[in-house]
Amino acid sequence: MSRPFDLLIRDGLVVDGTARPARPADVASDAGRLTVLPPGSGAAAARVVDAGGLVVAPGFIDAHTHSDGVAILDGGRDRELVRAAVLQGVTTEICGNCGSSLFPALPERLDAMRAEAEISFGGDVGAYPDFAGFAAAHAAVPRINHLVSLVGHGTLRAGVVGPVDRPVSPAELRTMCELLDRSLAQGAAGLSSGLIYAPGTYADTGELVALAAVAARHGKPYVTHLRDEMSRVEEALEEAVEISRRSGAALHVSHHKTAGRHGWGRTARTLPRIAGLRAGGMDVTCDVYPYTAGSTALAAMLPPWANDGGLAALTARLRDPEARDRMRLAIAEGVPGWENTVGNGGWDRISVACAPRHPTAEGRTIAELAAAAAADPLDVAADLLVAERGEVTIISHSMVEEDVRRVLAAPYAMIGSDGVPKPGGRPHPRWAGTFPRVLGRYVRELGLLSLEEAVHKMTRLTAMRFGLAGRGVIRDGAHADLVVFDPAAVADRATFTEPLLPPSGVAAVIVGGVVVVRDGEETGARPGTVLTP
Ligand SMILES: [Zn+2]
Repeated sequence: MSRPFDLLIRDGLVVDGTARPARPADVASDAGRLTVLPPGSGAAAARVVDAGGLVVAPGFIDAHTHSDGVAILDGGRDRELVRAAVLQGVTTEICGNCGSSLFPALPERLDAMRAEAEISFGGDVGAYPDFAGFAAAHAAVPRINHLVSLVGHGTLRAGVVGPVDRPVSPAELRTMCELLDRSLAQGAAGLSSGLIYAPGTYADTGELVALAAVAARHGKPYVTHLRDEMSRVEEALEEAVEISRRSGAALHVSHHKTAGRHGWGRTARTLPRIAGLRAGGMDVTCDVYPYTAGSTALAAMLPPWANDGGLAALTARLRDPEARDRMRLAIAEGVPGWENTVGNGGWDRISVACAPRHPTAEGRTIAELAAAAAADPLDVAADLLVAERGEVTIISHSMVEEDVRRVLAAPYAMIGSDGVPKPGGRPHPRWAGTFPRVLGRYVRELGLLSLEEAVHKMTRLTAMRFGLAGRGVIRDGAHADLVVFDPAAVADRATFTEPLLPPSGVAAVIVGGVVVVRDGEETGARPGTVLTP
């Protein structure tokens, strides 16, 4: 056959995603599909990327993002928030995590959902009745890389019963199951829950079992931000195991961590527990990001009842001095079943990441702000939330390195950034640095993982978990999503003060056979699509 390939990546060292040893090979793409050729093939191609001295790997699949709305907000204008993922080599993002997606909802709830999403995402990103509506909205916006979405349980609950602190009725639960079933049939990749967040936290185990059973019927996983990742992380893991057992759904634990002074070191117990379940035949996996700090909403530092009714109800409550005192007491004494981040760590570990009306607060801890104002930290946090309509992103310095390394090394742990791309502020650097950080720090510098193992955790392992056939692997016929990087130079540069700095050492990124990044710069191509497992 003499017809040239669309693209040839020649003389690279292929790390194919399966964890098999790297080998020299040429990799060609034609109509978006790969052909693996012997090294020095001399094959003809319309475009050639010289990968001498470089690694050629499947494009990274980010197992865990909150990028549900960022491309819609960006509108194809190619700002740095949207670019950050692909400059790392991420060719597929999995959003809809932690119980939060932009669908589904009953028609009569859509306006309220859209208004809440506008506050959380920092702009109008819409709210959609089902996965098809969400996918159509994204299809209308040029994308660099691919997007996959889970169905968020919190969104589903708010979309049927509203953001309220009460059990669901049997009829409401049936409606939730129907909406979930429809979106999964349309192509959503699984069910996610976020059991520290309102309104997901108001669900009992039985509600989650009923919904996870719907995912199980579609052969799709139950993905969960556990009800507690601190002092009661082991009980929270057992709840997730029970949901998986009773529903029949595969279990995926999101951003596994054991945080706060009572949680440090507990991965020495949670990981052997997961390994034991796997040895017993249970399908359970997790994802992890390579940082000792987390990032979430400031409102999640408050007891569940404070968030009952949504953001407007929260801010009304925060204006009431008596309600503030009850929150102060709840943080000091704890509430059964509630992960109390501040009680487990302290306001000195919570720094403001994004507060658009208070840029001078960004980068400072709540404790520092309180000391400067000679005020109580809870009052500082409450005043900030009121002024920001309930939406403030924080960074929580809550973990220890030993736990992060233990989870990274677990063979069933895949890499997920947990990136929260929102305009303004100083977001957690994980959105721009996760994948190069694993390859630079944990593979090259610390030797915690081999290059082949690390790439497997970023590609094939994730594709298998989320049902992405023909992705995350370099072999004949696979989708032509690729990253080419320098194993001696790849490193993250994003920091807590400069959180969107692109990494070094990423030479080329290819999506669907089209070069989207070359020598660290975007080419302007937009071949990305919404994928359905
Ligand atoms: Zn989460």
